[in-house]
Amino acid sequence: MKKFEKIKAYLNELYPNASCALNFSTPYELLVAVMLSAQCTDKRVNIVTKDLFKIANTPQKMLKLGETKLKQIIHPCGFYNAKSKAIIETSADLINKFNGEVPKTLEELTTLRGVGRKTANVVIANAYGGQTIAVDTHVHRVSKRLGLASENSTPYECEMSLLKIVPYSERSLTHHQIILFGREICKAIRPKCEICKLKDICLFYKNRVKK
Ligand code: SF4
Repeated sequence: MKKFEKIKAYLNELYPNASCALNFSTPYELLVAVMLSAQCTDKRVNIVTKDLFKIANTPQKMLKLGETKLKQIIHPCGFYNAKSKAIIETSADLINKFNGEVPKTLEELTTLRGVGRKTANVVIANAYGGQTIAVDTHVHRVSKRLGLASENSTPYECEMSLLKIVPYSERSLTHHQIILFGREICKAIRPKCEICKLKDICLFYKNRVKK
């Protein structure tokens, strides 16, 4: 069995129905939730957006709310100064460039101030049903440990490697599965290698055992 097929079989066994854990009902709500999720748990983001979206769930309402009030509401998510600035700038860009609608392509999404490639890929996959692989810290770490991306790869290079390996129709599900695997088993600190079924193909584990 090829390496990726073995990894995928294990991910399917562990997380057959992995999906986005952020709550949203429109592409704009998802975009804001993803921007809030940097360095924050999805659970906390969902608590904050439950209140936020009652008063500001469109770019127009977000601008009306204003940066100061937004900062207060999103305070529990951390990095609230940078996040509120980015959300306000993105909302203004959406109104000025896209009639207040969230665009559907990577090229358009990444023209928005405050939206990088990772955020754009998450929006395309979860709001519009696209098959993308967003490389966050978990996807990057797990991919390097398993040799799906090279050790010194950038997030962009990691994404390009994964796009070559992961079949098109499986990209979005695989992305969510790797995130859960990285959060629960292949953790950044003290990965649970003892219970992991990928030890025999894992570069990180092999190096660890040699030491
Ligand atoms: S063996 Fe350890 S480092 Fe390798 S994939 Fe499994 S949990 Fe991660």
